[in-house]
Amino acid sequence: MQRADGRAPDQLRPINFEIGIAPHATASVLVAMGNTRVICGVMVEETVPRWMKEQGVSGGWLTAEYSMLPYSTQTRKPRDISKGKLDGRSTEIQRLIGRSLRAVVDLEKLGPRTMWIDCDVLQADGGTRTAAITGASVAVALACRRLVEEKKLSELPVAKLVGAVSTGVLEGVSVVDLNYEEDKLVTVDFNLVATEEGEFVELQGSGEEATFSQQQLDEMLVLGRRSICELIAAQRAVLAEVAPMG
Ligand code: UDP
Repeated sequence: MQRADGRAPDQLRPINFEIGIAPHATASVLVAMGNTRVICGVMVEETVPRWMKEQGVSGGWLTAEYSMLPYSTQTRKPRDISKGKLDGRSTEIQRLIGRSLRAVVDLEKLGPRTMWIDCDVLQADGGTRTAAITGASVAVALACRRLVEEKKLSELPVAKLVGAVSTGVLEGVSVVDLNYEEDKLVTVDFNLVATEEGEFVELQGSGEEATFSQQQLDEMLVLGRRSICELIAAQRAVLAEVAPMG
């Protein structure tokens, strides 16, 4: 099995985080995994959703939105607004991003405020949902630091970093971080979300007109977890570089 871009089965695409690309956001990150690039912007509002007030739920809230910009795909993808409704795929992805980040943020410590994570795909080449989570984790960490700097919070509400990666089975071989070409060819598509401690947040695996064995599942779990460790090391490196707070 030869990957089109010459990568080893366990090799991630080059990863890069560009910080502060949207200056009005509380924090922003342009994350690149190879040719997949996603803008992750975080804004904090000093209010909580009405259902929390009505149900007397304390603490804050964190929610995410995801969309693909019309020019992010090979053929133009009309904005959802032009169709009058959000497509099912975007809804599913934004809920995944929200769940992934809520797993590592202490909403009680966040206090009565809402953290919005807006993920907009600038360039889609496979793995946009996983790149969005990996980028959003950095943006959320930076936004939390900002809240502490501004003395809105006395301690960081973000307990851990979270990362995500896609894996799949290509010509019988388990591979990590699929690009679009590979995504079309794989017989299994398996996305993993995990924390820096190696604990899983979510696993999404499906056979694409095929089945997969326990052994392949185990291989993908090992590959995915190892790759997420690499992604989290890259997140740490960029956070250390930009850190005013260390
Ligand atoms: N894609 C596309 N148009 C769409 C949906 C997907 O071009 O409306 C491409 C895009 O490159 C995306 C890939 O198909 O990254 C795989 O899509 P999938 O739904 O598996 O999500 P992703 O891998 O991006 O999380």
